Amino acid sequence: MEVRELLRENIRTLSPYSTARDEYQGSLGIYLDANENPYDNGYNRYPDPHQKVLKQKLSEVKNVPVEKIFIGNGSDEPIDLVFRLFCEPKRDNAVSIAPSYGMYKVAAAINDVLMREVQLEPDFSLDVDKLLAATDEHTKLLFLCSPNNPSGNCFPKETIERILKTFQGIVVLDEAYIDFADQPGFLSRLEEFPNLIILQTLSKAWGMAGLRLGLAFAQPFIIETLSRVKYPYNINVVTQKIVYDRLQTRPDTQIQTIIAERKRVSEALKTFPLIRKIYPSDANFVLVQVDQPRQVYETLIAAGIIVRDRSRIAGCEGCLRITIGTPEENTVLLDTLKNM
Ligand SMILES: *Cc1c(COP(=O)(O)O)cnc(C)c1O
Repeated sequence: MEVRELLRENIRTLSPYSTARDEYQGSLGIYLDANENPYDNGYNRYPDPHQKVLKQKLSEVKNVPVEKIFIGNGSDEPIDLVFRLFCEPKRDNAVSIAPSYGMYKVAAAINDVLMREVQLEPDFSLDVDKLLAATDEHTKLLFLCSPNNPSGNCFPKETIERILKTFQGIVVLDEAYIDFADQPGFLSRLEEFPNLIILQTLSKAWGMAGLRLGLAFAQPFIIETLSRVKYPYNINVVTQKIVYDRLQTRPDTQIQTIIAERKRVSEALKTFPLIRKIYPSDANFVLVQVDQPRQVYETLIAAGIIVRDRSRIAGCEGCLRITIGTPEENTVLLDTLKNM
């Protein structure tokens, strides 16, 4: 399979916008080329459209060459871009598991692309034959989220490998929660799979949701094409600078604490009469099934604790999704639920 053949015709032939910074790449001089305000206030210049310095840093942190890294305004951006690159509106389609992250479906709808959802089994495992049977010659994208949101589970690596080898389109593997999992993701294996796009984000383990920085990793041809289609200045000066600084320190201690707290919360919840089921989690949240989800939700709200009510989603009947907070916050949660 040639990835180039999967691109939409208009994207294959696109000549991208060339910024002032593309046409002159020196770093010293009198800049009279971009119609900026010349008075330095820290923000008067456009950001680097290629995010060179930040990409170099991310390359070290993630151990991936810069040519295989795309930086987006949150993961939302690469999720939208893959539709714009590969899916001809009204003709092509995409396939995703369900329940899963809601943005895939929204991005599909915005791009006027049909999204086929394949329901996971009741234990949230994935039947690959069922998934592949939902694809056809117009299926360009297949979304897999592992660890999956909202179920919290990872899919076995053999399952993901089989999908990557069999499906003749692009597999978008969303690893937003991979830092909380005990199995490694696919980042070190990009080489093997020319049709793989891995999404990661700084919004979860790295604690930078407010800065909006999402990452896509793929073979250089895909990265180049994403870069041609993105808004030229998609990552602002402040985000590029602060993220660079914050990448100096890995959040390992926080991640370890969150994982330990996930275990403590899950084990405590198991002993509470109101809890019917706790799903195993490889993420920084747990999905729990209760008899009266709305009542539990309202009780928590009254105690000042906000969780996500997922009980109306197919496959998540009766379920609340609870993010793991600080140890103190988790203790308040447990104390509130214990007495219900
Ligand atoms: C939170 C989340 C993201 C991250 O989105 P950003 O736009 O990077 O903040 C991506 N995928 C999944 C499945 C998520 O739950």
